[in-house]
Amino acid sequence: MIFRQLFDATSSTYTYLIASRIGGEALIVDPVLERVDRYIKLLDELQLRLIKAIDTHVHADHLTGLAELRDRTRCITVMGERSGVDIVSMRVADGEKIEIEGIGLNTIYTPGHTSDSYSFLMGDRVFTGDTLLIRGTGRTDFQNGNPVDQYRSIFDRLLKLPDETLVYPAHDYKGDTVSTIGEEKAFNPRLQVGSVQEYVDIMNSLNLPNPKMMDIAVPANLRVGLKQDRPELRERSLSCDDALALLEGRNCVLIDLRDKSELARHGQIPGSVHAPYGSLSDTLAPGGLLHELSQSTGKRLVFYCAYGERSAMAVQAADEAGISLACHIQGGLDAWKKANGPVS
Ligand code: FE
Repeated sequence: MIFRQLFDATSSTYTYLIASRIGGEALIVDPVLERVDRYIKLLDELQLRLIKAIDTHVHADHLTGLAELRDRTRCITVMGERSGVDIVSMRVADGEKIEIEGIGLNTIYTPGHTSDSYSFLMGDRVFTGDTLLIRGTGRTDFQNGNPVDQYRSIFDRLLKLPDETLVYPAHDYKGDTVSTIGEEKAFNPRLQVGSVQEYVDIMNSLNLPNPKMMDIAVPANLRVGLKQDRPELRERSLSCDDALALLEGRNCVLIDLRDKSELARHGQIPGSVHAPYGSLSDTLAPGGLLHELSQSTGKRLVFYCAYGERSAMAVQAADEAGISLACHIQGGLDAWKKANGPVS
């Protein structure tokens, strides 16, 4: 496994780059905008293809690299379903698995630092965001933070993991890089409490100044959706009504780009062909499913995904692969459901 802990000295943020092998698929957790060049260079050096970029929560102290990474690598942006962010490509719920080749991250909803804080368990290690830090915990005094929620997230969820589980936080201000659940249970000063109230009292008496970047970072980090107003994309974007009309003509084939876990949770438009976005370069290449489908049937490909980001990027990829006139359902299955489109 390739596992890199990268550091942004300005915001003391840790970013994690993970892949199962050199030359394979990669994912990144909590990327920082100013460091995107560095991540892309490292991805190139290790011949990795970035598939997913994940934020543990909406950050207040740095600008997220999610949108920039998506625009430069066409990766899938991922956040928890409780996130207030405008559009990400994929939203995950507690218990849902985020997968790339050879790697699986289990989603744990751990509100408290913010109401949209998630942790991600990957085998022997857990990415705790700002929920559990090394010998500390994330502040709970803004972005719908709540010390009671945080106590429950830490004591009822994270500390129930095996003691030897490695703890990789989103920040450290003292130079520590990794801890374990057992170590934090024993030595984290904020966790040496006898009751919820004792923890709440500690968190409510911290009196910390607001992060310097907060007024800029939070609004910016809430708007990371793909810009879809380019004319060449607009004319390939179908409203749900347009899509229904086109599908009745039967001169097209619906392509579902989502992951299997999303199909299981949210259903599918009847009659769709499943071709996950992560494998798009293979399925669009000669011999691949979508290439053959478009060549042999002469039908127009109509892509859709969860919120319309992957499908918009797939239209571009299809153009580049020489598959003409592919289009996509704007707003994805989310918009489709709101327009009462049929779902199986
Ligand atoms: Fe934070």
